Amino acid sequence: MDKKVVWLRLTDRKRLPVLYIIVPCYNEEKVLPVTSGMFLEKIIRLEAEKKISAGSRILFVNDGSKDATWQIISNLAAQDEHYIGISQSRNRGHQNAVLAGLMEAKDLCDITISIDCDGQDDINAMDAMVDAYLDGCEVVYGVRSNRQTDTFFKRFTAEGFYRLMNWMGVEVVFNHADYRLISSRVLQEFKNFREVNIFLRGMVPLVGFKSTSVYYERAKRLAGESHYPLKKMLALAFDGITSLSVKPIRMIMSLGLIVALLSFVGIIWAVVGEFTGATVSGWASTVCIVCFMGGIQLLCIGVIGEYIGKIYLETKARPRYIISERTYDREQSREDISEN
Ligand code: UDP
Ligand code: MG
Repeated sequence: MDKKVVWLRLTDRKRLPVLYIIVPCYNEEKVLPVTSGMFLEKIIRLEAEKKISAGSRILFVNDGSKDATWQIISNLAAQDEHYIGISQSRNRGHQNAVLAGLMEAKDLCDITISIDCDGQDDINAMDAMVDAYLDGCEVVYGVRSNRQTDTFFKRFTAEGFYRLMNWMGVEVVFNHADYRLISSRVLQEFKNFREVNIFLRGMVPLVGFKSTSVYYERAKRLAGESHYPLKKMLALAFDGITSLSVKPIRMIMSLGLIVALLSFVGIIWAVVGEFTGATVSGWASTVCIVCFMGGIQLLCIGVIGEYIGKIYLETKARPRYIISERTYDREQSREDISEN
């Protein structure tokens, strides 16, 4: 799409927005026939209520499913123009599937809402999300108000996940998964975050812009099984922490400092022991060397880690600034210059 058109779309908030609902699907043949109708009903209702424009779509992202998911999506697309689909060449995981959908949609619509296809996220929260967008927000996070339907184990591990992330220096919205509205304007900036290890929940807040949250109750999966057992959740947390925070490296550095200090105390203790004659010969010198080496080594690893952390952040080549407002029309000024 030509740049001018994109720009007009990004700045024009007066006309009704085109909404793309992004739905990642992996082996969901059981639940898709149930939820696809719910999505369609919602989009038609939003259109009728004049909140979104008629060109709005439901974009399914097939994440390399091994069952009949793609077949179902293709059939849906043939039945109703609101349904469209893309398919990844292989399974890449939930985060990549959502990203693929967002990048596919960014030049075609004004707003996207990403939602799981299993009916767990309350579709009715979309109304409040679109309202918040119409009120001027560019990002709207869907936050689970309670987890009554989750088992104690799932609730405990899932909430522990958010606490761990925050403690480790990753800014995430508590109890918000990947149910959120993002405007195409934010997506145009988001595409400049070129990292390969993606953790959308931590990256979207980095882009900034006006945001808010809407609350909804998390329901049970309508059919099929969860693809996020504890093992995958831990892997996601580990990925999120290591791709967004260098705090673990800082912790090695702090540990090194503490050990170095303790070693210093140990050395004094050994020397005092030597002079008071309370030790066997050779003990003091051995303890001194062990303490010294231990302390120095951890401290040095910490310093090296600090540099590796910097290199790591540099390799991500994230944008260093993002402009959200201008008092003038930049594209217009550019055209004026090229005409003269
Ligand atoms: N999903 C995906 N690729 C995967 C795993 C999951 O696209 O490799 C999709 C899945 O179809 C669903 C969403 O991600 O729409 C969330 O997965 P799930 O419901 O299994 O996770 P849970 O809600 O139990 O955390
Ligand atoms: Mg689910």
